[in-house]
Amino acid sequence: MLEKNKCYEIKIIDLGDGGEGIGKIDNLTVFVHGGIPGDLLSTKIIKLKKQYAIGIVDSIIEASELRQIPECPYTKCGGCQTQNINYKAQLDLKKKLVEDCMTRIGGLDVKVNDVLGMNEPISYRNKSQYPVRMVDGKLHLGFYKQRTHEVVNIDNCMVQHPLVNKIMKSLRCHLENSDIKIYNEEKHRGILRHIVTRISFRTQDVMLIFVTNNNDEIPVLKDIGQKLVEEFPNIKSVIQNINTSKGNRVMGYENITLLGEDKIMDYISDLSFEISPLSFLQVNPIQTEVLYNKALELADINKEDQVIDIYCGIGTISLFLAEEAKKVVGVELIDVAIEDAKKNAINNKLDNTEFFAGKAEVVIPDLYKKGYRADVIVVDPPRKGCEKQVLDTMLAMAPEKIVYVSCKPSTLARDLKILSEKYKVEEVQPVDLFPFTTHVETVCKLKLLK
Ligand code: SAH
Repeated sequence: MLEKNKCYEIKIIDLGDGGEGIGKIDNLTVFVHGGIPGDLLSTKIIKLKKQYAIGIVDSIIEASELRQIPECPYTKCGGCQTQNINYKAQLDLKKKLVEDCMTRIGGLDVKVNDVLGMNEPISYRNKSQYPVRMVDGKLHLGFYKQRTHEVVNIDNCMVQHPLVNKIMKSLRCHLENSDIKIYNEEKHRGILRHIVTRISFRTQDVMLIFVTNNNDEIPVLKDIGQKLVEEFPNIKSVIQNINTSKGNRVMGYENITLLGEDKIMDYISDLSFEISPLSFLQVNPIQTEVLYNKALELADINKEDQVIDIYCGIGTISLFLAEEAKKVVGVELIDVAIEDAKKNAINNKLDNTEFFAGKAEVVIPDLYKKGYRADVIVVDPPRKGCEKQVLDTMLAMAPEKIVYVSCKPSTLARDLKILSEKYKVEEVQPVDLFPFTTHVETVCKLKLLK
């Protein structure tokens, strides 16, 4: 019987969703923070439940071959989870995660391709979200410690764009020298909650967003924005976003343009996209192109093909497909994303597109009833996967091919199992959009069974 606060020897055999090492002691599963597969550890048990226990590393008895010394010096930051695993091993672990889901959850006997990783897995993010807090009278600007809302001060984050790091460093000085009231989460008081940045890797144009717990325009933020624009002319847009809600949501729905434009332009391959403060765009532009090109290759579209893109966001994949297809219909929940998608279609002169806002589980069955059909369906759902009505309608529509893009292997495998009633899973290709985290994107090709 395990006891809390005592140390035990454990062999780590797997990696959990949150990057914790997993092993067993007396048949009880133990999640060890800081442990990685292959480690032999002495672990101190800090939480003991009937079904599982949680431990921390007391000492490393034998280090895993997968270990590396993190390049990032901020050991308390929870932004990344696998800084202590070498990049090749991260990719192998992601492949294994997808394989395990395919067999265990999907019941599928399918080969999973090697993960398409980055050549240089650094400075890959085009969006950053920094919480701002006061800790013991000192400004903290950085990222949350894992599983907490304690803000770890970060001056130079290796997964952010170098220009964003420079801007944040300067912004920190301006904030320290100003009288702006910093948000206190427990009391839900104060003004400045978060700093969000978005950058186009193509043009290096930056949008700087101050998230405030206040409905009125805050002049001091405009002043700070002005100083930053003078120092960094790449900042083309300074926005105040209003978020007076309690809880974890970073941004609210209302924006005030303090300086410059209300949007910046970004590019994926030869297509341009208008990015507003709330637009969803994949955060790793280099790997997004790899992912979309793979999706396009698997869709193997020709000029006769009717395509439906479900969960289309601002129409990024839709427009990629529209360049090759006869027609693309995109469906997405968020109204403003659909407005963006329509604008993006016009800007890119792709008039063979039609977009619908609404829940896919309502809109897709409705379109089917109205006679809409597809040769190829592309789906890219959120982490919870596709709703049953969406899967049922896809099966009823029975397009020749389905390309499923997923950000969560377990729900992907669950949905593939349902679709395999009529489809053969021909290819499974994981792509690494999030180095140093446990997240993995996967794109799959499904072919209608004859
Ligand atoms: N394909 C896009 C976006 C994928 S993210 C891209 O690559 O950029 C998933 C999208 O699904 C988000 O834009 C989200 O708003 C949308 N979404 C979430 N639930 C939905 C639902 N029930 N119906 C339709 N869209 C939904």
